[in-house]
Amino acid sequence: MTFVVHGLPVSRGIAIGRAVIVASSRANVAHYFIAPDQVRSEIDRLRLARDGVVMEIEALQQSLGDEAQDAHPELSALLDVHLMLLQDEQLSHGVRQWVVDRHYNAEWALSAQYEVIARQFDEMEDPYLRERKADLEQVVERMLRIMRGQATLAAPAQTPGNEGPLVLIAHDLSPADMLQFKNSVFAGFVTDVGGKTSHTAIVARSMDIPAVVGARSASHLVVQDDWVVIDGDAGVVIVDPSASVLAEYSAKQKRGEVERERLLRLKSTPAVTLDGHRIELLANIEQPGDVQAALRAGAVGVGLFRTEFLFMGRGAQMPDEEEQYHAYREVVEGMQGLPVTIRTIDVGADKPLDGHGREGSHLNPALGLRAIRWSLAEPAMFLLQLRAVLRAAAHGSVHLLIPMLAHASEIRQTLAMVRRAREQLDAQGKVHGPVKLGAMIEIPAAALTVPLFLQHFDFLSIGTNDLIQYTLAIDRADETVAHLYDPLHPAVLQLVSQTIAQCQAQGKGVSVCGEMAGDVGMTRLLLGLGLRSFSMHPSQILQVKQQILRCDAGKLGAWAHSVLQAEDPAALMAD
Ligand code: PEP
Ligand code: MG
Repeated sequence: MTFVVHGLPVSRGIAIGRAVIVASSRANVAHYFIAPDQVRSEIDRLRLARDGVVMEIEALQQSLGDEAQDAHPELSALLDVHLMLLQDEQLSHGVRQWVVDRHYNAEWALSAQYEVIARQFDEMEDPYLRERKADLEQVVERMLRIMRGQATLAAPAQTPGNEGPLVLIAHDLSPADMLQFKNSVFAGFVTDVGGKTSHTAIVARSMDIPAVVGARSASHLVVQDDWVVIDGDAGVVIVDPSASVLAEYSAKQKRGEVERERLLRLKSTPAVTLDGHRIELLANIEQPGDVQAALRAGAVGVGLFRTEFLFMGRGAQMPDEEEQYHAYREVVEGMQGLPVTIRTIDVGADKPLDGHGREGSHLNPALGLRAIRWSLAEPAMFLLQLRAVLRAAAHGSVHLLIPMLAHASEIRQTLAMVRRAREQLDAQGKVHGPVKLGAMIEIPAAALTVPLFLQHFDFLSIGTNDLIQYTLAIDRADETVAHLYDPLHPAVLQLVSQTIAQCQAQGKGVSVCGEMAGDVGMTRLLLGLGLRSFSMHPSQILQVKQQILRCDAGKLGAWAHSVLQAEDPAALMAD
């Protein structure tokens, strides 16, 4: 039966495919198709993992000894349950089917079958049996851990299985999970939680696949293998669509593809308004691999490299100076002489390093130890990153951008750290290059003290995602208050407008690198407020450029200022 789930539109386009339900704890297992001749070896990996867990449990039972088993009958019974689950036909047969019929890799097949059985446990009347789901989960996690330790025998197959496209449905996905999916087989995704500018949504946009977040209970309502339409423009998920609905969305999907092809023709057209203002369109990237997308979209530089994505999901293994230097250098060289803005690490809030949040920062992470606060609290890590950036600057034009500054003391400490990093490089005889220094304006306190920032920095970049969050006291990752997250709130517009005006008055560069810059509905307003530099996901650049080519920036000035003065700016946006 067809039904519709509503959420927030975060990444445009239409995806049609079969649902793959993934619990977030298993989201970071690899998902890829194997070639038919790899079926045998994948099943062997599963068998080895299962035998490994059986051995672990049996060893545990032995180490307990008879006496301890008598003393702890519950523990002993629990281990028996785990052994029983491992031998369960439904688990082993089901996993096999996913590998044989669908050509899922072993980890994916195991997670998929876990989801099927877990649902059955959820529906059981008997509370004791219902709770066995936790045991199943532990057994599956143990198997996954063993498989993680094995060399992967199967290389991903180039072509997907024969059942057509797949879409991912999850309760929640951390930004680190999302990175895992970046090169995966999924044509779209839906999460129950998340706001429009949550980092999960941001990574989805950078992947350029249709996505809906904040769809509340989608992961419970949708069943593994259901056919699903994701309308990333409207924020709607249609489950089990009828033939006519499917035909309608297939047509819409084709129209979208044609439109994208058409936009590609603008790639090399300079972004110049009708009255001759040249506009800089830069790319936001998360990984060195994103450079190709930036160039394909005709970006004239990288306006925001969110370096924290290099650090995420790596447990205790942080990238060292060499690894970071090579990553930054790869971007600088990949951009072929175009400027690259490297932002120092911005972890914390909805971007925990390990996917689970930092101890002690859970009270109010968005107001806690994140971004520059974190870097200044971890001086050795900060210096290491600064050295890596300064070394990469010897290979091209690098701008160094600092997130979340608010206090004069933070500015002083940061500048001292940059000097110190240079001294360390000199002492080690390592080559480094000049950088332009920039600060992000993403806290109202910073937007209200722009002159202080302009004394110390060469340029400013307005992070509207956080500026809106902190001005309106709305957690950007919380779907329950997403309706109050308003880029057009007069207070937000005042802060953005004043920041632009003060930079221009002093001849300093200013750009917007928050999601507002890539929102084609905001282009006219930002141009009217005097903005000449926009940084956004590569997938948004051509649409924004198309809009710029149709605008007369001079004429937009008076209108933009009337929007700024209005009680209800949104009402004037269509004028
Ligand atoms: C912002 O806050 O607008 C921004 C660009 O930074 P991030 O989204 O990474 O917090
Ligand atoms: Mg920010």
